[in-house]
Amino acid sequence: MAKKTVQDVDVQGKRVLVRVDFNVPLNEQGQVADDKRITAAMPTIRYLLDNKAKVILCSHLGRPKGQRNMDFSLAPVAKRLGELLPEVKITFADDCIGPDAMDKAMALKDGEILLLENLRFHPEEEKNDPAFAHELASLAELYVSDAFGTVHRAHASTAGVAAYLPAVAGFLIGKELGFMGNALENPERPFVAILGGAKVSDKIGVIKNLLSKCDSLIIGGGMAYTFFKAQGYGIGTSLLDADSIELAKDLMADAKQRGVKLLLPVDTVVGKAFEADTEYKTVPSDAIPDGWMGLDIGEKTCAIFADEIKKARTVIWNGPMGVFEFPNFAKGTAAVAEACAECEGTTIIGGGDSASAVKKLGYASKMSHISTGGGASLEFLEGKVLPGVAALNDK
Ligand code: AMP
Repeated sequence: MAKKTVQDVDVQGKRVLVRVDFNVPLNEQGQVADDKRITAAMPTIRYLLDNKAKVILCSHLGRPKGQRNMDFSLAPVAKRLGELLPEVKITFADDCIGPDAMDKAMALKDGEILLLENLRFHPEEEKNDPAFAHELASLAELYVSDAFGTVHRAHASTAGVAAYLPAVAGFLIGKELGFMGNALENPERPFVAILGGAKVSDKIGVIKNLLSKCDSLIIGGGMAYTFFKAQGYGIGTSLLDADSIELAKDLMADAKQRGVKLLLPVDTVVGKAFEADTEYKTVPSDAIPDGWMGLDIGEKTCAIFADEIKKARTVIWNGPMGVFEFPNFAKGTAAVAEACAECEGTTIIGGGDSASAVKKLGYASKMSHISTGGGASLEFLEGKVLPGVAALNDK
């Protein structure tokens, strides 16, 4: 069911607790090294400020493991936020609950921001402790969820607080669910899903769910070798998910029965060792020599995959086609990224490695949507209920 959004409620004059994903990388000087996650939350923050709300932002940063550890303080984020919003008064509370946070929340005027210190300084956050969630909720009159990267976790700030406050989605969550939900429920066809990455077992749920929805399923990356093994090919020293061989057979049979075109690499770039400068060559997928490992898809495969992608009206891509961290084995991932950039349909890039590859190659602006949450987008594509979304009020 559709969830209420920040536009469905009156925010004027209200203290609004916004769960954002400000889990940003910090450099050695402790400054924000990349502010993309901060700018991703800006549409919601600006909307609330423009509509005269009192904005209370909360987030986690890194893994302080329930301890107060200043290496993971959000103070540098407050500084960056101030640079992005020079006209706005921003205060910082050095804890996310307690008297200081409460006093500063109560002192907020319309159009001002209070940023709370790292939620994960309290072990109760990740345990979704009701008393902690209640204390956090007591700072505000309305809860807005806009941290897509953490909606697959039932934490106090992502799900627990919704028991105590009206709870609605922000613009980032709305955009994520809009793009991916539409692709799953009502895709323009042909709908091509591309899956890569290391292990089949990590993506079984996604493969199964997408097989029931897409017209073509492209499989590359380390997981392809388990499918080769399932067909009886020798795979040398390539990555093998031995426990998933039978499952790969079932998935191939399922694709056939459903009439889904399953595209596996026809050729493979093999190397002698898992090293950036290892000797390499391209071989047909059914002729991987003993002692060699598959590290990328080959040129013929790049052309076949690119052709399929360019014809699509909807594309979802998650996971690299090879060991793209090594330039010699990044060509397959680059070819898929380029084909997605050239595709005129809707192109949706799951978070994580495929998103970084697309950005690094300079294709980000050519995609319809790049998800901000790797884990969350995978769980959504699996068809799982996301606790942080389920907790929001229905329309
Ligand atoms: P995942 O987190 O499952 O999406 O996997 C991403 C990782 O898969 C990246 O670090 C890639 O280097 C790795 N990967 C992709 N292709 C291969 C391959 N052929 N052999 C080993 N690792 C691979």
